[in-house]
Amino acid sequence: TSSRPFNFSAGPAVLPEPVLRQVAAEMLDWGGSGMSVMEMSHRGKEFGSILAAAEADLRELLAVPANFRILFMQGGGLGENAIVPLNLSRGGKVDVVVTGSWSRKSASEARRYADVQVAAEGTGREIPRDWQLRDDAAYVHVCTNETIDGVEFHDLPQLTNGVPLVIDCSSHLLSRPIDWSRVGLAFGGAQKNVGPAGVTLVFVREDLLGHALDICPTAFNYETVANNQSMYNTPPTFGIYVAGLVFQWLKGFDYAGKRGLAAIEQRNIDKAALLYGMLDGSGFYENRVAPSCRSRMNVPFFLKDESLNDAFLAESKATGLLQLKGHKSVGGMRASIYNAMSLEGVQALVSFMKDFEARHG
Ligand code: PMP
Repeated sequence: TSSRPFNFSAGPAVLPEPVLRQVAAEMLDWGGSGMSVMEMSHRGKEFGSILAAAEADLRELLAVPANFRILFMQGGGLGENAIVPLNLSRGGKVDVVVTGSWSRKSASEARRYADVQVAAEGTGREIPRDWQLRDDAAYVHVCTNETIDGVEFHDLPQLTNGVPLVIDCSSHLLSRPIDWSRVGLAFGGAQKNVGPAGVTLVFVREDLLGHALDICPTAFNYETVANNQSMYNTPPTFGIYVAGLVFQWLKGFDYAGKRGLAAIEQRNIDKAALLYGMLDGSGFYENRVAPSCRSRMNVPFFLKDESLNDAFLAESKATGLLQLKGHKSVGGMRASIYNAMSLEGVQALVSFMKDFEARHG
């Protein structure tokens, strides 16, 4: 058990404590090399072994098929909003399903490079039905977990017209398996569930490589990055190393008789059930997202009496529950309960919230 407070930040976010301890222990001398990972050539054998292990562990954890390449890039989710159309759109049509703030941003950025149609638009509280998809689109974009709105796809759509599906899975990557049979490309920034900010993971089906627009920066051309094993330019070495330790932590994770990704998914299900159950049973707090698409990772909620918001934030912080303030665009509160958040952390949040209600309700 730890004496650290519980950190509910939406990202950059809490990391597993054993990983932070190992990073600290290896800071001055990684593996007897006499160097910090920050000080190593990315082309040396030491970093080569770190990258190879990270990629192999990630492939194993998510059961990534052999016809997908894994790329370690930079630029974050917003960078990918441009990099994906530069590589995949061929200057043609792109359909985007808007489920919240992040997919809306993806649509407007892609408009700089492609003929973008919003195929369906939700209110931020549900996944819209009746998608208007074009058979000649280069790809369909969805954000599978809307970090701000708290809307998550619990099943990936199965597109029947052969158009590849692109998913922005930044904020639930590695919290659950991915059905690769439905995906052409997946991307995510690391700073929520994977590691420090600065690493962007891209999983791309091989047949989608090689179609970049001429104006695509070479360092962001997926084919170039893939052909150079993510080392066309200097990769974010330290972040990849920390992410690799997170992958090892996940592979060894035990919970409820399960191991690895299945175990972390089960704990995520249990944490979310505990928090949503409390919210739904309370007349004091509320979550406004349709139950069938509530996020297991990001739980926005409101105090019905918003004049208590400042007291809620001050008292939660004093209790050791950090960064619960909601995104400024929606207000209220948000508890992000990523992989590294323990069940005890969510229990502590729930008991604080009940206690706060008893005192102010
Ligand atoms: N997509 C999603 C789903 C996100 O949550 C975020 C970051 N909160 C982004 C994209 C943007 O990521 P970045 O800041 O790394 O560019």
